[in-house]
Amino acid sequence: MGERIRGRKGQQLRRRRLANEPLCRRCKERGRITAATVPDHIKPLALGGEDVDENIRCLCDDCHDQVTREQFGHRRRTEVGADGWPVA
Ligand SMILES: [Zn+2]
Repeated sequence: MGERIRGRKGQQLRRRRLANEPLCRRCKERGRITAATVPDHIKPLALGGEDVDENIRCLCDDCHDQVTREQFGHRRRTEVGADGWPVA
């Protein structure tokens, strides 16, 4: 598992990454211009990603929440059958 760089050095790194990519990458792909607030790990550290610039994309809060949910599968998907009841 990759090591997250913490403390003062981590904050400088975060600022530098946001300066490198000031707009949310995911919004930009959808034709929206949104200020990035979070340098996100493309491959999460928890899944073996490394804390290096090549593994970073800057995102806005909303996109960061969404990709985190997708990556960790917290999104609950309930399928509904033809009779309107959830399918087990
Ligand atoms: Zn966004």
